[in-house]
Amino acid sequence: MLEFHKKKPKNPSKTEPEKRIKDFQEIYSQFGKNDSVEQSSRCSQCGIPYCQIHCPLNNNIPDWLRYIAEGRLEEAYQVSASTNAFPEVCGRVCPQDRLCEGNCVVEQAGFGAITIGNLEKYLTEIAWEKGWVRNLSSQNQYKQKVAIIGSGPAGMAASAYLTQNGYQVDVFEKNDRAGGLMIYGIPNFKLDKKIVERRTEWLTESGVTFNLNTEVGKNISFQDLEKDYDAILIATGVYKARQLDIDTSSVNNSIPALDFLIESNRTGLGDSPSKNKYLTAKDKHVVVIGGGDTAMDCVRTAIRQQAKEVTCLYRRNKENMPGSAREVLNAEQEGIKFNWLSVPSKIISDSSTATSMTYKVATLGEVDESGRRKPIDTGVEKQIKSDLIIQALGFEPEDLNHNFKTNIELTSWKTVKVDFKKFQTNNPKIFAAGDIVRGASLVVWAIHDGREVAKSIHNFLQNSKIKKAS
Ligand code: FAD
Ligand code: SF4
Ligand code: SF4
Repeated sequence: MLEFHKKKPKNPSKTEPEKRIKDFQEIYSQFGKNDSVEQSSRCSQCGIPYCQIHCPLNNNIPDWLRYIAEGRLEEAYQVSASTNAFPEVCGRVCPQDRLCEGNCVVEQAGFGAITIGNLEKYLTEIAWEKGWVRNLSSQNQYKQKVAIIGSGPAGMAASAYLTQNGYQVDVFEKNDRAGGLMIYGIPNFKLDKKIVERRTEWLTESGVTFNLNTEVGKNISFQDLEKDYDAILIATGVYKARQLDIDTSSVNNSIPALDFLIESNRTGLGDSPSKNKYLTAKDKHVVVIGGGDTAMDCVRTAIRQQAKEVTCLYRRNKENMPGSAREVLNAEQEGIKFNWLSVPSKIISDSSTATSMTYKVATLGEVDESGRRKPIDTGVEKQIKSDLIIQALGFEPEDLNHNFKTNIELTSWKTVKVDFKKFQTNNPKIFAAGDIVRGASLVVWAIHDGREVAKSIHNFLQNSKIKKAS
């Protein structure tokens, strides 16, 4: 260990931009044995590991790095999997530059972070290959049943831990596939769909029942779940797209980011393309509005669909972008144009189809309530050709109580209000986790919440059993 000053940081190779934009394959390859040993041995085994503190799951990173360096891979995997239900997913999609790796002391000291994410991915892929990822089993067989609404990372992680604890778990999912945004939001070039499908199969084989095409509030009522189940977990995510300040309702080629990404993911999974011709970027001048990770996913999807030109309009500058620096770099390498400090002002259309749009050039003023500098109009207006406009401005919760005909306490942001330790709502039998509690967040936080809410549901169910018996 402590080899950081002798060995340079290394990540697995990345497919060249000209090649990778031709398909939707993941762009990073995987470490081999020698590289994984070399890279793990760079870790300085900190007494107070900042990597672990800044990992939402509090993964015991120094221990599994040491085991990898010593060739004790099965033990490394057991330690890694003891805190993370889906380490191979986090290894691929966590913004490590803001979490574990960004806070690694070796990075802070100027030697380059330990490449934790890629080592986590390597370790878990080896575990799958070697058969160390075993189906979940439990010594207990409780009769109590838990209903989980939503099969994203929060619902899936909770289903794993509850099954392991011996409960009957039924997941209700409105879509035709399980996985939430891991299947229909995040593009394949960041997270191969096979990785998600493999986990769904693993959960199914472990005893979790997935009821697909079943929207709670429509195909089955929330009140029926309340009658039939001992506890309910709401893990429905946030899907209401934030709107642009300018009116786009009169044109049919200005679309929400998720409509575009869902269509791309669906066709990638083998579904027939939609008849809506505005859901694809091929041969178009595409303008994506927004500066977060969803915007980066849209621009990179559009370039892979052979758009003529793809431009990202963002109202602040590069330094103030909310998205991961790694994803912005990947997009730049793939030929995306960035117009910083650009605020959309008007859509120019030919009957009901936008042909171009105008935007105001901004400068940055004082810091606003978001903690970032506010864009201020300079009075200069420019125009850009756009025959597909994709709006990637973030997401808000839908009206949950309206959809479920319930009276669950919400926050002023319309997220579900929970006790933050127990993830329990104002109704003790109803729990909530993931984006529907936090607002749009990260996969790793959803997995964290799934793990923690499962513990809390277990405590609640055990206490109700004791109460019943006494
Ligand atoms: P979701 O994943 O949204 O899952 C909720 C599920 O509930 C869905 O399957 C939905 O269909 C279902 N559902 C909703 N209502 C009902 C109902 N009434 N009945 C039945 N089912 C219902 N995070 C990262 O860490 N890294 C990334 O690279 C990344 N990229 C992203 C890219 C995009 C385009 C988007 C939109 C998000 C991205 N995120 C990323 C964020 C991450 O995907 C989410 O934070 C995470 O998926 C939230 O998990 P969740 O389980 O709370 O909700
Ligand atoms: Fe880093 Fe994410 Fe893995 Fe935690 S889960 S160690 S933050 S990659
Ligand atoms: Fe190793 Fe970096 Fe974590 Fe320290 S902070 S234990 S060097 S990975």
